[in-house]
Amino acid sequence: MNMNLYALLAAHFPAAPAAPCMILPDGRVWTYGDVERASARMANLIAALGLQPGDRVAAQVEKTPESLVLYLAAIRAGMVFLPLNPAYQRHELEYFLGDAKPGLFVCRPQIRALADELAAKAGVANVLELDDAGRGSLIEAATPHADAFATVPREKGDLAAILYTSGTTGRSKGAMLSHGNLAHNARTLHEYWHFQPGDMLLHMLPIFHVHGLFVACHCVLLNGSAMFFEPKFDAARAMQLLPESTVMMGVPTFYVRLLHEPSFGRDVCRNMRLFVSGSAPLLKETFDEFKARTGHTILERYGMTEGGMFTSNPYEGERRGGTVGFPLPGTALRIVGAGGTAVKTGEVGSIQVKGENVFVGYWGMPEKTREEFTADGFFTTGDMGSWDADFYVTISGRSKDLVITGGLNVYPKEIEELIDAMPGVVESAVIGLPHPDFGEAVTAVVVRQKNAAGAALTESGIIAAIKDRLANFKVPKWVYLVDELPRNAMGKVQKNILRQEYSPLPRR
Ligand code: AMP
Repeated sequence: MNMNLYALLAAHFPAAPAAPCMILPDGRVWTYGDVERASARMANLIAALGLQPGDRVAAQVEKTPESLVLYLAAIRAGMVFLPLNPAYQRHELEYFLGDAKPGLFVCRPQIRALADELAAKAGVANVLELDDAGRGSLIEAATPHADAFATVPREKGDLAAILYTSGTTGRSKGAMLSHGNLAHNARTLHEYWHFQPGDMLLHMLPIFHVHGLFVACHCVLLNGSAMFFEPKFDAARAMQLLPESTVMMGVPTFYVRLLHEPSFGRDVCRNMRLFVSGSAPLLKETFDEFKARTGHTILERYGMTEGGMFTSNPYEGERRGGTVGFPLPGTALRIVGAGGTAVKTGEVGSIQVKGENVFVGYWGMPEKTREEFTADGFFTTGDMGSWDADFYVTISGRSKDLVITGGLNVYPKEIEELIDAMPGVVESAVIGLPHPDFGEAVTAVVVRQKNAAGAALTESGIIAAIKDRLANFKVPKWVYLVDELPRNAMGKVQKNILRQEYSPLPRR
């Protein structure tokens, strides 16, 4: 049996080729027949360029139907797809091309000169263009090719994609994902979240990342249903499309922004059956307000580039705010303390996972890969978390964000939650800054509301308000009041930037 992921997806495409797959902002529709034919033409082109199965196809392009089809064509032809965030600049691109050595690089026309220069340096033989309207030399070169293509046979363990992690410390690592990894996660999520005929997904996520490319698109394609395929998130636009949608997947910022819309509420969500959140922590406050305004309980899940989704709140049964739910079927998850022993209920430890969805390793980094896996094959996620009495998992943050002050561990989330609950506070980020006595000093960066309560916040006021509720070593030594926190494209707070920004400041 052909284990190529495309073969699995295509086996679930609707029998009628005219069935819609992507609905674009201008009303144009890409049918499943269009997707099959366009991906066949591109797969034929890729083969004609001389690429061999296993070769990499890198793409740094905007989100368009053509860029999704390029992904499908690449895996269909047996290549390994390498999506790159369009925000990456020269030195980042140089690293990715040099490291992955793709046989084809598809770029935006505006960086063609740079792409040629870097491709020549890295020995990339082919560079083609795709613009934000889905045009360019990639499409011109693909058009004359046949619109049928026999999907290249692949084994479960053959690579389908390499996704570079955001690399907030050290070199960015290329997570190698196999056809089997992606297929397993796609099947699991499709079933766990009860995808059904007639579903309509609102797709406003980027497609260079696991959330938008794999989680969202695979669920839709495996379901043979349609999605509103929008270039990016826009709250007003989401309000127009939600009444015709049934499922939305988003990062927490999407939900926060929707709640800022005065007319957002039950009526707009009347046709919806599921809101999924992930990629960054969803504040309990957002979860509660969303429920009160819409009657919908957001389903929060947790995962990462290195294995897709690991846990999810249940579809049926209680979705518990502030938690990421239970390990998904097929994922073994354990939380261990120092010395590798399982933690007790409520105790924070290091999260490790094992399952068919967990990645193959880091591209060209066998040493690094070995370090991240335990002797019995569990992957150390780098996230810290705990179980509650009913086995819901709560994430406390990345282990590298753990603050160690005077030799004692401080989990930022515990302090952030207290500060966030104060009047006048929008949100906060707790980090550790170098300190001569303590090693690290607990430091809170607090976003204030633009109102009287926000204006009244002071460093000493915040410290005084939480002091009685925390052990002394956890109380922030320093507090900075700011207007917003730095976030990446997936809505994650960039604590590394905060640490850089505030470290050199002279303190008392
Ligand atoms: P990425 O590989 O870019 O998808 O980032 C994965 C990381 O995002 C995880 O290791 C977690 O630290 C974080 N993450 C993902 N989902 C959640 C969630 N629901 N709550 C808290 N953190 C999350």
